[in-house]
Amino acid sequence: MAEARIIDGKAVAERVRASVGRRVALLKAAHGVTPGLAVLLVGTDPASQVYVRAKGKATVEAGIASFEDRLPAGASAADVLAKVRALNADARVHGILVQLPLPDQVDEAAVIDAIDPAKDVDGFHVINAGRLATGQAAMVPCTPLGCLMLLKETLGDLTGKRALVLGRSNIVGKPMAQLLLGAHCTVTIAHSRTRDLAAEARRAEILIAAVGKPEMVKGDWIAPGATVIDVGINRITGADGKSRLVGDVAFQEAKRVAGAITPVPGGVGPMTIACLLENTLTAACRQAGVAVPADPGA
Ligand code: NDP
Repeated sequence: MAEARIIDGKAVAERVRASVGRRVALLKAAHGVTPGLAVLLVGTDPASQVYVRAKGKATVEAGIASFEDRLPAGASAADVLAKVRALNADARVHGILVQLPLPDQVDEAAVIDAIDPAKDVDGFHVINAGRLATGQAAMVPCTPLGCLMLLKETLGDLTGKRALVLGRSNIVGKPMAQLLLGAHCTVTIAHSRTRDLAAEARRAEILIAAVGKPEMVKGDWIAPGATVIDVGINRITGADGKSRLVGDVAFQEAKRVAGAITPVPGGVGPMTIACLLENTLTAACRQAGVAVPADPGA
């Protein structure tokens, strides 16, 4: 059997970003609205700083106004909440992203709860989770939204497909399952208490792995021809002593069985930022009461 098609998330993400850029330009020209995205970073976590820099750069490249707020690692919950409320009230800001994780003294749930749901471009607010679950217009979490885009690029119509979502977190697994349901898949959600994960996986035509366990999904868990989306980002030390990134799927084994598969890195990762820009454009249009412009370059 031929090897799996490698799904190039970087290329798809570049197309999405370019499309957001064209539509942002149209929104400015037609309605005088410049979408604005604010990122709030608390503390000096190195990985978070890298993400925030990458987000800021992509934001500016798409023509979106980028606002960056920083608070020291010792900031109190009240400081963070005050900052969020100020951003809620700032008309230039259409999207607010609070970079997680927050320091221990700050309750993440309370901070997410304080974000205006209309500006919640991460889609983590309970109002948006509820809207997604009930099929209403929601802000959809970026990573699962990116996975859905990759699936549609690869398979087209997903109606009737048997999908397994491995992982049930609020930020990936659960919203992913909702999106697949919305796309008319037959969805199973598996987790750490699932009996015989391998058997569940082998039934799936679409397998989404979001567990955070390096290379847990083996080649013989995958149905021949299945489409595999690997959300996992795990840093491991190889036999040569060098550190490298791997996904939740044993890629070398899996690509010999799957029909299509995302690599790590270069699969889902780049889609997350692209979808953040897409969500910011959507949020700006909804707040301005106008339709999201059609892409003239599509
Ligand atoms: P969480 O740790 O919040 O959730 C992991 C899920 O996997 C849980 O539902 C857990 O089950 C399940 N799980 C853990 N171990 C097992 C096991 N041995 N067997 C079956 N299920 C298991 O992780 P996230 O959802 O936040 O992230 C998942 C992965 O995706 C991570 O590698 C993370 O780095 C990556 N990620 C990548 C992003 C990107 O941009 N590409 C963005 C966000 C995350 P239970 O609920 O029963 O405990």
